[in-house]
Amino acid sequence: MSGWDRNLDNIITDRSISLRLALAMINDSGLGMILLVDCDRRFERTVTDGDIRRLLLDGAEMGDSIRSLPHIDSITLPLGSTPRDAIDAMNEHDIDDIPLLDADSHVVGLLRRREISKPIALSTPHMEGAEMDYVEEAFRTNWIAPLGPNVDAFEQAVADVAGVAHAAAVSSGTAALHLALRLLDVGPGDRVFCSSFTFAASANPIVYQYAEPVFIDAEPQSWNMSPQALERAFKTAKAEGWLPKAVIVVNLYGQSADYDPILSICSAHEVPVIEDAAESLGATYKGQASGRFGLLSAFSFNGNKIITTSGGGMLVSDDEQLITRARYLSTQARQPAAHYEHTEIGYNYRMSNILAGVGLGQMTVLSERVEQRRAVFAAYAEGLAGLYGVHWMPEPEWSYSTRWLSTLTIDSTEAGISANDIIQSLASELIEARPVWKPMHRQPVFAGARYFEHGNFSVSDALFANGICLPSGSNMSTAEVDRIIATMRGLLGKR
Ligand SMILES: *Cc1c(COP(=O)(O)O)cnc(C)c1O
Repeated sequence: MSGWDRNLDNIITDRSISLRLALAMINDSGLGMILLVDCDRRFERTVTDGDIRRLLLDGAEMGDSIRSLPHIDSITLPLGSTPRDAIDAMNEHDIDDIPLLDADSHVVGLLRRREISKPIALSTPHMEGAEMDYVEEAFRTNWIAPLGPNVDAFEQAVADVAGVAHAAAVSSGTAALHLALRLLDVGPGDRVFCSSFTFAASANPIVYQYAEPVFIDAEPQSWNMSPQALERAFKTAKAEGWLPKAVIVVNLYGQSADYDPILSICSAHEVPVIEDAAESLGATYKGQASGRFGLLSAFSFNGNKIITTSGGGMLVSDDEQLITRARYLSTQARQPAAHYEHTEIGYNYRMSNILAGVGLGQMTVLSERVEQRRAVFAAYAEGLAGLYGVHWMPEPEWSYSTRWLSTLTIDSTEAGISANDIIQSLASELIEARPVWKPMHRQPVFAGARYFEHGNFSVSDALFANGICLPSGSNMSTAEVDRIIATMRGLLGKR
C-alpha cells in the first residue's frame, strides 16, 4: 500500500527547533501533530500541541528548543501494511493518523483515516476537462438547445467508433431502445425476445409498446444471451405458430454477446436484432466494434457508464432511413409544415447541444477510459490470484470487453464465505460492491413472462446467486484498488 504523498518535509523535524516553531508547524500541518526524527532522520515520536503545552507548563519558554521532549513509543506501521491493518490500529489506539516506516525507521508516508476510509463508489462520472470547451462554445454562441453543431459532431464521433454509418443522439439509452422498437413496428400483441440477465431498461421499452417480453438465458462463457436458449425459444415459437418481432441482445458489463451464432439464428427466421450496447461502447467482437451487430443498436451515456453526458443515449444503424425516422420520431413527429402537422405520435427524446458537448469531450478519452477500466480489472485479477472460490467473468478469445464493471462469482463452498456476505463486509468498509443484475424473469414486474434456459439449468439464476460487481471506475486511484484487494483478501483468505 502506498502512503500519503503530501510533502512530508513540512511535517518532519528534529529536536533543534523552538517550541514556537513546533507550534507553527503543527498549526500549518492541519494534522494536529508533526513527526520528530533523530539526526539520522529515523522516526522517534509524534509531537502534538498538547506535548508543547506540557513543556510550557513545566516552565519552558517559547524560544527554547524542544530537546527536552521525553521519548515515547508512538504507533507506527511498517511499509506494506494493508488498509485493514491501518484501520485496526487506528481503532485500537483511537487515533486518525499513523506514520508509515521503512525497514530503517525512515518515514515514507502518513496513513490518514480520512484517506484510507473514504467511500469508494461502484462507478462514477470521470470528466476529462475538454468537455468544458465544447460546453463553453455552446454558451458563447447561445446554441444551448435543442440540436446544433455539438450534436452533429457527437453523432459522427460515436458512429465512427461503432463503425456504423448513422447515429441519432437522444436523451437516454432507454429512449434509444424504445425508438428501436417503434422503428421495427413492435406493438400490442407482439412478442420480443430479450436477454434476461440485464438491467430493466433493456426490457421496459417492450412494455412501453404494449408488447410481451420473452426472456432468454445467458451462457456461461460470456454471461450474455445463450445461442442455445435462443434456438430453443425460436423452435418453441415456431411450433406454436408465432415468431418474435425483434430480439434484444445485451452486451453485459462491457462484453459483447456471441453474435455469429445469434445473428445466424435470427436471420434464419428473418427476425431483426436490436443490440443493447449501453455498457459496451469501445468493446469489440472478433475485432468489430460493439454497436455494429444490431440492425439498430443503443448506447447509454448515463452517469455510471463508460463515458457520460450526465444522461443521454445514442441510436445507431447502417440504415439511413431508420435513423432519419428516429430523428423525426424523437422530435415529436412533426411533418414539415409551418403549423406542425402530425400524422403519428412522437416523442421528445432528442439530446441537447450542451450535453452533446459533454459527450464530445468524453469521446476524446474513450479508449483511455476503456484501458483504465481494464487495468482495474487486471489489478483485481492479479491481486486476488490464488484465492479459492473466485471466478471472474470470463472474456472469450473473440471478446475485447470494456470491463465496464469488474464482476466475479463466488463459490461459497470453496471460498468459505458467500457473495452476499462479501458485499455486506465491503459495505462496512465503505466499499460499494453490488450483486450482479437480478434476471428479468425473476423480477416481480415481469412475473409470468416466459423464459428459456441455457440448458437444463438457469445460468442467469446461478450468476445472480453468486455474483458480485466490484468498484470499477476509471477514476479510481491505485490506493483505492489496493484497499479493495486487501479487504477482499482478508475476507477470502479465512478458509
Ligand atoms: C444503462 C443501461 C440502459 C439504459 O440506459 P439509460 O441511458 O440509463 O437509459 C439500458 N441497458 C443496459 C444494459 C444498461 O446498462
